[in-house]
Amino acid sequence: MNGFMHYLRFLILPFVVTFFTLGLLEHFQSHWQSWQETLHFAPYWLLAASSLICLQFNRSRLFYIGILLLGFYALQNNRLFLSPIIHQFLPLFGTLVIGMFCFIKDRGVMSVHSFYRLGGIFLCGIIAYAWVQLVNLSPNIIAVLQQKIRLSIETSPLHLLPLYPLTLIIFLKLSWNSNLAQTSLGISLLLWLGYFLIPTNLPLSVLLSLIASSFLITVLFDSYFLAYRDELTGLPSRRALFNLSLALGRKYTVAMVDIDHFKKFNDTYGHDVGDDVLKLVAIKLSKVSGGGKTFRYGGEEFTIVFPSKNIDQVYSHLDEVRQSIEDYDIVLRDESRKQNTKKNRQQTPVKKKTVSVTVSIGCAEHKSDESFEQSMKQADKALYRAKDRGRNQVRF
Ligand code: GH3
Ligand code: MG
Ligand code: MG
Repeated sequence: MNGFMHYLRFLILPFVVTFFTLGLLEHFQSHWQSWQETLHFAPYWLLAASSLICLQFNRSRLFYIGILLLGFYALQNNRLFLSPIIHQFLPLFGTLVIGMFCFIKDRGVMSVHSFYRLGGIFLCGIIAYAWVQLVNLSPNIIAVLQQKIRLSIETSPLHLLPLYPLTLIIFLKLSWNSNLAQTSLGISLLLWLGYFLIPTNLPLSVLLSLIASSFLITVLFDSYFLAYRDELTGLPSRRALFNLSLALGRKYTVAMVDIDHFKKFNDTYGHDVGDDVLKLVAIKLSKVSGGGKTFRYGGEEFTIVFPSKNIDQVYSHLDEVRQSIEDYDIVLRDESRKQNTKKNRQQTPVKKKTVSVTVSIGCAEHKSDESFEQSMKQADKALYRAKDRGRNQVRF
């Protein structure tokens, strides 16, 4: 998946869906008003369920936020958050906590890291409280600050001032390193700030239910990717291949691809470089034309399935992708330069070492009385013929 598609799927689309849902909810408010009573309890169920599932799947950041929101909702419903200072404190506190979680990793809920996380949340509380107190108790200092900074903050209450740079930093971080968990942190921030800063008709129960749903969807998609995507190459995994095989019709061609002498390659350049090469070969194979779908079968072996195609229709596409891999000059990372100082780097001329690999491909057309596994076996046999006859070729 290229960079833009990644942003589209993991960052832009979830935000668009959230805005669209908010719009729909606002627009059709009269339709669901009669559900208010049920909706009132929804955040309890949804946040509790999402926190439990996040706990199970080690999504510690979403777990902590879910629990904090659950506590907030319970206190808010019991009218324990009526003091104005609390309402000045909460937007900043929430932003700081979400900001902190954007910059740290999921490290399990029941681990030694939990103490640091809890300490971090506590520290965010102290910082937010100190700022609100500073604003309320030192109007003179703030007035000088206001004049010096010359921002158009007259219309914005001063206790909200840190939210601008914080939100900017958080969203820069989200777009720099986007994945579904990060995006759902961004969605939480958006809805949290929206609740405090933008007067909306949507009740808190609906906003919190949306946040809990985004957490649930994140865990659901993550577990889908864990099950059906290969972690190293990002290609669909063997499990996805067998899922596809159930949906194939009678006519299809299957190809087995194996990198030539890869063991020797690993022995020469190291396993890490081998991994990088595997990823690059995977990218090339995923671009195969002719409607082929590429899977990582395991190790340095890949499978390409061409639904509704016979061998004559796929041979040229397979040979084209084989050729593109042969022609591809892979530039190796210069590990020694990594350890050099800046000065040394400037003095040492950049030496770019390039390598290349080849692949052998065996393919077989599905015969009417064969199972998918049998077709794969035939493709495997063809692959061995390709290896026997000198490698770097397509055989059937
Ligand atoms: P041939 O041309 O006959 O296929 O030779 P080969 O060396 O590629 O074949 P063999 O199956 O003996 O070796 C496969 C090697 O692929 C063994 C292992 O070191 C390497 N390999 C398998 N999976 C990975 C992986 O995920 N990363 C890296 N770096 N290497 C892997
Ligand atoms: Mg092999
Ligand atoms: Mg091999």
